[in-house]
Amino acid sequence: MIVVSQDEKGLKGAMLELLEQELQPQLDADDVAQLSDEALADRAPANNYSPGYFVRIDYLLQLEGMIAAGARLELFADEITGLRAIKLARAEFAREHPACGNCGEAQYTRFARRCHACSTEFRKAG
Ligand SMILES: [Zn+2]
Repeated sequence: MIVVSQDEKGLKGAMLELLEQELQPQLDADDVAQLSDEALADRAPANNYSPGYFVRIDYLLQLEGMIAAGARLELFADEITGLRAIKLARAEFAREHPACGNCGEAQYTRFARRCHACSTEFRKAG
């Protein structure tokens, strides 16, 4: 049996999934009305982790917020594991979705040539 609170790889993956979901453009009611059921299903966010992972991540984010606010807490080993998983997920997300140098918006892909938010053109690397 997998213990969610000790599954660093799973927590990291679930956190990445949450970050990816936040990046997806939101559909408004008109968009939804025009799309077929199949097209909507294709746009549904990936959900590869059981709800327990997201409950745990919610807890870890609250814990992280308390620490950031200056709370001095003694952490359990699985809390440290979880906080590390969140940090690793954010780092991976930042690599895959670099922020625009102009507006700071995370890009859909690191290969973007133009910011989807402010239309700033990105220089090609190299
Ligand atoms: Zn931008």
